[in-house]
Amino acid sequence: MRLSQSFFYTLREVPSDADIRSHQLLVRAGYIRRLGSGSYSLLPLMQRVIHKIEAIVRDELDRIGGQECLLPQMHPDEVWEASGRLEAYRAEGILFHFQDRQNRGQVLAPTHEEAVTLAVKDVLRSYRQYPVHLYQIQTKFRDEIRPRFGLMRSREFIMKDGYSFHTSAQSLEDTYQQIGQAYERVFERLGIKVVAVEADSGAMGGKKSREFMVLTQAGEDEVLYTADGQYAANVEKAESIFSPAVPSRFTEHHKHHTPGTPTIATLCDFMDCDPTQVVKNVLYQAIFSSGVLVPVLVSIRGDQDVNPTKLSNVLSEMFSGLGSLQSLEVPDADQLKEWTTGELPLGYIAPDLPDSLIAFREGVHGQFARITDFTVSELENFVTGANETDHHVYGANWGGNFQLGYLADVRMAKAGDRAKHDPEQTLLSARGVEVGHIFQLGNRYADRLGLRYLDAQGQEQVPLMGCYGMGITRLAQAIVEQSHDEQGIIWPLAAAPYQVILTVANMGQSEQAEKGLQLYQDLKAAGLEVMLDDRDERAGVKFKDADLIGIPFRVVVGKTIQEGLVELITRQTGEKQQVALEDLESTLS
Ligand code: ATP
Ligand code: MG
Ligand code: MG
Ligand code: MG
Repeated sequence: MRLSQSFFYTLREVPSDADIRSHQLLVRAGYIRRLGSGSYSLLPLMQRVIHKIEAIVRDELDRIGGQECLLPQMHPDEVWEASGRLEAYRAEGILFHFQDRQNRGQVLAPTHEEAVTLAVKDVLRSYRQYPVHLYQIQTKFRDEIRPRFGLMRSREFIMKDGYSFHTSAQSLEDTYQQIGQAYERVFERLGIKVVAVEADSGAMGGKKSREFMVLTQAGEDEVLYTADGQYAANVEKAESIFSPAVPSRFTEHHKHHTPGTPTIATLCDFMDCDPTQVVKNVLYQAIFSSGVLVPVLVSIRGDQDVNPTKLSNVLSEMFSGLGSLQSLEVPDADQLKEWTTGELPLGYIAPDLPDSLIAFREGVHGQFARITDFTVSELENFVTGANETDHHVYGANWGGNFQLGYLADVRMAKAGDRAKHDPEQTLLSARGVEVGHIFQLGNRYADRLGLRYLDAQGQEQVPLMGCYGMGITRLAQAIVEQSHDEQGIIWPLAAAPYQVILTVANMGQSEQAEKGLQLYQDLKAAGLEVMLDDRDERAGVKFKDADLIGIPFRVVVGKTIQEGLVELITRQTGEKQQVALEDLESTLS
């Protein structure tokens, strides 16, 4: 690439709408340009970075038997109705949806569980054809509540999404682990530090998920971890009563728990959990078998569509077993639906228990419940639930008399050795960006969409599924957020759009210009990815630009070219060395 003949620009001004460094740098260095809210053009340099990342992802996934495919981005409503997600996702507002000329509803896909299940339906018929792991790399559409930070949270973004199909839990577990390891290798090869955080909810029937977090102040998630690396969890998971792990800062409060003070539980990621199971086995056990009757706030979120009628029935059933609560008003389906899909607040106060509160929130990621309508003042403005900035537990008084995590403590005591986190250890907190998420889905999609196979006995069975996401565009920006300095981006070699930038200090000097061009051709012929800065600019301007765009190696063709020497500067370290022309190729490769 010769800069003098290419579309290339840099900006001096920090863009006013960019709050974090990576966003500012990518805009200033000419990698991305905003078109509309959460919508960005990926310019040539960015596209090369994306291709680099994608190639590594493909390599690692193909190695473990993944097969790339490409599914439609536009799905007829029926597809999403069949899984039961259309209504919930539309209510949540995350779905881009429109009518075609025949007046048929169409979804611009935010994810592809339905589409992939239908792609293999009626074809994946025998147990002998399993397991199968398909993936694609493609633009996703999500009408995010707060698109921001450039590619970090946009409304149109590139995701690698994979899906696997299995005839046994063991097979699903094997593939899930393999893919987790493939993800680790991708991040390692890209030179980016990522921590894996577990959200094991095995007690709830095999649902498992793991998130991959790039630790950075700009992250929208909070991660709790121990210094020895034995434990790491997303706060939204750590506070969940599903989680076998309980942050130790909660256990202190547990000791001082007095019956009657409010207790909060967040039931996260309800996906594939039968609400009946959750409420009965966990909530009921945790609260009532502990012998302490505590008011409880239940907030439900996740990629699920919890059926309001069912939930309402479950609650009636649950409370009817409790003498003292028999008169509890359980909302009917309509009421519940109104709360779950309507505007905030979502409080519900049981009339016979003045301090108690039961609130529900269903929906998808990004959904949250803001409770303002209750009698316990400490809970005012409490925000719980989803994985969006300002939707975490920020408003909560973690150290006060409000017993966040109390249920989890009770449960952990019962779960005994299931606990991963040693309560003696102090939990540290860090901010992170979720760049990947792998998930054991169970059989929900296969079941609802009618995917079946015949087992060895000729019996019809519903396969198990896993799904595996990686945010390609988010990852590209996360690398920049983790790797930059005052001067600009510092690309790790594997992700850099070009490996080398060859800067001709003074184009007015014919020897420099000629030798520069010759060197450019030689290095290219040697297989290196090279930019030639042959613009008619001052050397200082060119050096600044080279630092800003973050190319790992800069080779300066300047005065010393007369002696057959060039200067080699390593972007990462700033180290400079004089290299003889004939040694340059070997030094660089
Ligand atoms: P988040 O919690 O940040 O909203 P998510 O949990 O909704 O993400 P998933 O459904 O797990 O996202 O999708 C898989 C991956 O896609 C995420 O791990 C993330 O890297 C990426 N991703 C999700 N939403 C966005 C977005 N709005 N912009 C860019 N990348 C995204
Ligand atoms: Mg989301
Ligand atoms: Mg998330
Ligand atoms: Mg996720």
